Amino acid sequence: MDDCIIIGGGPAGLTAAIYLARYHLSIRLFDCGTSRAALIPCTHNHAGYPEGIKGTDLLDRMRRQAEKYGAHREEKRVERLEREGEGFRVHTQGQVFRARTVLLATGVFNLHPPGMDDELHDAALFKGALRYCPVCDGYEVTDKRVAVIGTHTHGTAEAIFIRGFTKDLTLIAPDAEHDLDAECIARLDDAGIVRVDGPCGRYRLEGDRLAVETARGWMSFDSVYPALGSHIRSELAVDLGAAANDDGRLEVTDHLETSIAGLFAAGDVVEGLDQISHAMGQAGVAATRIRNKLAGEVGLLR
Ligand SMILES: Cc1cc2nc3c(=O)[nH]c(=O)nc-3n(C[C@H](O)[C@H](O)[C@H](O)COP(=O)(O)OP(=O)(O)OC[C@H]3O[C@@H](n4cnc5c(N)ncnc54)[C@H](O)[C@@H]3O)c2cc1C
Repeated sequence: MDDCIIIGGGPAGLTAAIYLARYHLSIRLFDCGTSRAALIPCTHNHAGYPEGIKGTDLLDRMRRQAEKYGAHREEKRVERLEREGEGFRVHTQGQVFRARTVLLATGVFNLHPPGMDDELHDAALFKGALRYCPVCDGYEVTDKRVAVIGTHTHGTAEAIFIRGFTKDLTLIAPDAEHDLDAECIARLDDAGIVRVDGPCGRYRLEGDRLAVETARGWMSFDSVYPALGSHIRSELAVDLGAAANDDGRLEVTDHLETSIAGLFAAGDVVEGLDQISHAMGQAGVAATRIRNKLAGEVGLLR
């Protein structure tokens, strides 16, 4: 019986592993290797790295720090969680592990532009021609020619946010026509954001720019932000009965405990700011709460 099993080895899961290992708890960390942080060509808003740092380098540093205290990432996909008394049974491919507490740090997956193949997607991402997070990198598109693929209130909100960085901004409908109510149209018009119908479905790199085929023909941009929503990877907790909002983000207490006692969650899988710093902060709070809860239940005297 482990004290805690962490599911997910992104910034949230790895931070929790560092804290819990340094509290002398017995832990396991299962991860299937699809952290959103691994997609970051170079983050410039994560404090402490004035020259920026590549997402994979940051993850590597965190893994080494966790390993230094005995917390090793195991490449395993968790398929199911089950309650066992006050604790949990954690099912991976063909194996079952038992834990007093579980921390879910499984993150989210951004929906990709319709019709874009993986090779072009990754090439555009690493050139900065395709971006997913204006909170993270809106600064980098200051005064550039930018498009948002999206519509409705979500596409409108994303475009209005990016308008704070550039005035050369186009909102492209993913489907044949925009789906915008009068309020969205008024906000877009007030901000001088151009609206173009789709469908998007064909793309090509033109040097460092990404060209998108629209109802008006091919249009080329320095950067394109898809605003098509995300898949929230909270199924393991939701299947166990944990409360989540309509999008699937887990509801948690101030100490990051879900509605199921002993099941904690941190990072993008929880409602909040989808940022590395936020994931790390939540993981530190959750890990300390787990430690104190176990101290109350089983005692952790040395
Ligand atoms: C292109 C891009 C650029 C970004 N730039 C920045 C930036 O500059 N600054 C910033 O602060 N943030 C940035 N972000 C956001 C940042 O990457 C996320 O907020 C952060 O990675 C969230 O950490 P997390 O640990 O919650 O989730 P993740 O990093 O996504 O990690 C979740 C992990 O859980 C694992 N997992 C999922 N399900 C299972 C399962 N069933 N079993 C085992 N493992 C599982 C996954 O494989 C993954 O490794 C960016 C994101 C993107 C996509």
